[in-house]
Amino acid sequence: MAESKKEIKTYISDASDDMTWHERLYVPALAKGFGVFAKHFFRNLLGDKEEGDTGTIQYPEQKIAYSERWRGAHRLTKRPDGSTKCVACMMCSTACPAQCIHIIAKEVDDPNVEKAPEVFVIDELRCIFCGMCVEACPKDAIRMDTGIHVPAMYSREEAVWDLDKLISNKGVRGNV
Ligand code: SF4
Ligand code: SF4
Repeated sequence: MAESKKEIKTYISDASDDMTWHERLYVPALAKGFGVFAKHFFRNLLGDKEEGDTGTIQYPEQKIAYSERWRGAHRLTKRPDGSTKCVACMMCSTACPAQCIHIIAKEVDDPNVEKAPEVFVIDELRCIFCGMCVEACPKDAIRMDTGIHVPAMYSREEAVWDLDKLISNKGVRGNV
């Protein structure tokens, strides 16, 4: 232990010996650092925010353009009669690693369908946007193609999207 302390001291002392008197003052380095800070500060304060001249944006009033490849938050697709294609099979909620999908099934009269969701909610704050639910769905009933980035909100409840909200969301490349 004593040996290693001695080695560290020697290393520090050697490093100090290599420094010029100019570097030992630290003032030029401080001035340089302050210059970088001032440059970014005034650029953010006075730069053209609309043109994206600064690295800071006034979110949520101002939003940056997302990549073409950004798919977005969830929606439930519909049949021609406006009802959801979801048959409440629970495949999506089973596949979801964040356990943020909650479904309660109900029976329906249509023998081709048998079940539909009575309750279908997704907690978008817990969601990690992995897309596993979309992959797991055998009916193409859930998609992540709305282009929506979950907005800033004032309460957790607003982030829990229910059946009506999920059905009303539209796809950016056409709605089904
Ligand atoms: S995207 Fe992933 S985390 Fe979000 S609801 Fe689907 S499976 Fe769950
Ligand atoms: S969205 Fe798809 S996977 Fe999820 S319960 Fe409905 S039919 Fe099943």
